[in-house]
Formats: sequence, structure tokens, C-alpha cells
Amino acid sequence: MKVGLFPGSFDPVTNGHLDVILRAKEIFDKLIVAVAVNDSKTSSAMFTLKERQKLLEEVCKGVPKVEIICFDGLLLEAVKKYKAVSVVRGLRAISDFEYEFQMAMMNREITSDYDTVFLMASHSYSFVSSRMIKELVKFGGDVSPFVPPAVMKALKNKKHI
Ligand code: ADP
Repeated sequence: MKVGLFPGSFDPVTNGHLDVILRAKEIFDKLIVAVAVNDSKTSSAMFTLKERQKLLEEVCKGVPKVEIICFDGLLLEAVKKYKAVSVVRGLRAISDFEYEFQMAMMNREITSDYDTVFLMASHSYSFVSSRMIKELVKFGGDVSPFVPPAVMKALKNKKHI
């Protein structure tokens, strides 16, 4: 059973994330989408951990082979716990590459138990990020083309837009 693990802050899940999930699940027997409890982004998160997890569950409802979990601490520990053979990451731009390259190299120095699989962002979502969604929402922009309907609803409730 080949398990892939797709970690992120998902604050909130976007159509770009969903695109990676749907493509990655074709590569593995099972895809674990792992919501990070603590990372540099979540200290300023718009959605709580539970909300981020719930939105992912709603968005992935009925999608076979996909499971949503939360993880705290080292990615490495989550990889071990769920017996993942690969970590999945999305690549949007050169700015993503720099960070992802460092992280993949560092993790490989620590362990050779798993490898990182990078999926290029689909053209139509290559500019979509959770940060940009939140900024747009703050200023009253329409983000409906970039997020699933459940997230749109949650953003409206959060910000009363
Ligand atoms: P963001 O960078 O949008 O705040 P996360 O930290 O939750 O999102 O990212 C989790 C993973 O999803 C990362 O590997 C990131 O590069 C990838 N990702 C985020 N948005 C997209 C997108 N639009 N297309 C492809 N991959 C993406």
C-alpha cells in the first residue's frame, strides 16, 4: 500500500490545493492530507485547526483514497506514523522552489526513509495562494473563482463579507 502525505497549513484550502490533492491521489493507493498544527504561517492563521480540517473534509467528501489528519511537530514523525513513502508538495513559482528545495534537502539529510514528490501547479491555479485569498477577502475582493463553495461560505461567515 503506497501512502503519500500532503502537508500544509491549508488556511484555507484553495482550488490550487484541491487540484494537487486530486492529481496526487492518482499516484498513491492512499493520500493523507496533513494539516499542520504549528508552522510559521499558522500563528497568524485566519481559521482554527479544527476549521481548516473540517473545510478540507467537506471539500474532499466523496473523494476516494483521501484522508484528512492533523499533525504537530516534525513532518518526519507524521511520515513515520502514517507509513508514507512520499511527501507531496505543490510548486507554483521559483519562490516556492527555493523553500521547497531547502526543506527537501534538509529532510533527506535527516532521513532517507521517504522522498518528496513535487507537482507543478496547474496553469489556472499557479497564482492562487491562501495568503492571497485572505488579503483579497480583507479588501472585499471576489475570491469565488479560487476557492471551493464551502470555503467561500466559511470566508463570508468569518469576515461578514
Ligand atoms: P499556501 O502556500 O497557499 O499558504 P500551504 O502552506 O497550505 O499553502 O501549502 C501546502 C502545499 O500546497 C505547498 O506545497 C504549496 O506549495 C502547495 N500549494 C498551495 N497552493 C497551491 C497552488 N495554487 N497550486 C499548487 N500547489 C499549491
